[in-house]
Amino acid sequence: MALLIKNGEIVTASERYVADIYCDGETITRIGRGLPAPAGAQVIDASGQYIFPGFVDPHVHLHLPVMGTLSKDTFGTGSRAALIGGTTTLIEMCCPARGDDLMAGFELWMSQAAGVSACDFSFHMGVSRFDAAAEAHLRQIVRRGISSFKILLAYKGTLGIDDTELYRTLKLARELGVVVAAHCENETLVAERQRELLAAGRTEPRWHHESRPPRVEAEGVHHLMSFAELTGASVYIVHLSCKEALAEALAARSRGVKVGIETLIQYLLLDKTLAELPDFEGAKYVMSPPLRDASNQPVLWEALRSRAIDTVATDHAPFDFATQKAMGRGDFTRIPSGIPSLEERVKLLYSRGVAEGRIDLHTLVDCASTKAARIFGLYPRKGEIKPGSDADLVVFDPHRRGVISARTHAMNVDYSVFEGWAYEGAPSAVTVRGEIAARDGRFVGTPGRGRFVARAPGSF
Ligand code: MN
Ligand code: MN
Repeated sequence: MALLIKNGEIVTASERYVADIYCDGETITRIGRGLPAPAGAQVIDASGQYIFPGFVDPHVHLHLPVMGTLSKDTFGTGSRAALIGGTTTLIEMCCPARGDDLMAGFELWMSQAAGVSACDFSFHMGVSRFDAAAEAHLRQIVRRGISSFKILLAYKGTLGIDDTELYRTLKLARELGVVVAAHCENETLVAERQRELLAAGRTEPRWHHESRPPRVEAEGVHHLMSFAELTGASVYIVHLSCKEALAEALAARSRGVKVGIETLIQYLLLDKTLAELPDFEGAKYVMSPPLRDASNQPVLWEALRSRAIDTVATDHAPFDFATQKAMGRGDFTRIPSGIPSLEERVKLLYSRGVAEGRIDLHTLVDCASTKAARIFGLYPRKGEIKPGSDADLVVFDPHRRGVISARTHAMNVDYSVFEGWAYEGAPSAVTVRGEIAARDGRFVGTPGRGRFVARAPGSF
């Protein structure tokens, strides 16, 4: 099957020009003006619209066991929501618990995605334990095309690793050319503050933030930076939320530490007053690190504009308000942590970022597609519009308007943190390896067609 997209304005991380794109099968094969449409080719007229490389979300949870429950989306529902929103490749974390066999964990996550996902996917391999058996498994998993590990410096006793394991994980990553993504919070500070707050009867969602204030995150970043500096490993800070943590990361970068920095669409647009809403409403906004004081938002936008922050992801982690968030009534530490946003990232980055003048179009493409593709070894197959790249394309109508609502979103969760938000600018057509997978906000693709993308070592 051939696909010709005509007259669109192609925008990549570094270029912007009007041309036609011809895709033969799954690959972009020609780019030029006035390309003829061969008989039988599907043609999209993209006049007046942008064409972006398919967006890459490097931080998504679609199979996430938390406190005896599972996050609501599957690779089926989640990949459809991703595609409607313009995300054509996502990277999920395999998160085996501390006692679990790492290889079994990898196979479990693969089995949740393969033959189910409609978009392409890969995994960060979660390292919840590091010993000889884990090391042997990690070496095998890297050979199967995984070029990133993921560690959690929070969550004492369940998913977190100790400092000896951290050091050895980073040494192995350095040897194998693997980047290590890390959730950075100081687990002892979190545990002690949670205990004190609960003992004082402070049980509502609003106290979640007090249990993990900015310094807890900054301390986690500082810790990771020290270990990265002394091992020479490349690291990637997931979900950076505040200026204190950013300062630690940038100080390390200026010392030569190889560090990528990710923030989330929620941290750019939402603040902690939402988690303070009464009647348990605040639980919808509980995630870790927490939503921060609004004064952090201009700092994060400016760091994005200057490209000090590399990527904008979602950390998509949907839990129903009615049944799952409710587990934490009377104890904020029992609220499943996470916010759904996989579907909304790109259009909000465009509406609130590009249209309101905070970032330009190239930065949008870079932070939501190209940079993640580079860091995680997907580039130039993903994150680029060039002959030879996968035909993952987003035809984006800058004038398409809508209002976000849980009543109409495709994510399988009973609320939206962006309920009632208007946007202007949304995908009109989204392709995955040459097949149209979403059109005007509707999924039209093939369930299960998404493919595991084997990755090579990335670069900063
Ligand atoms: Mn996390
Ligand atoms: Mn996460």
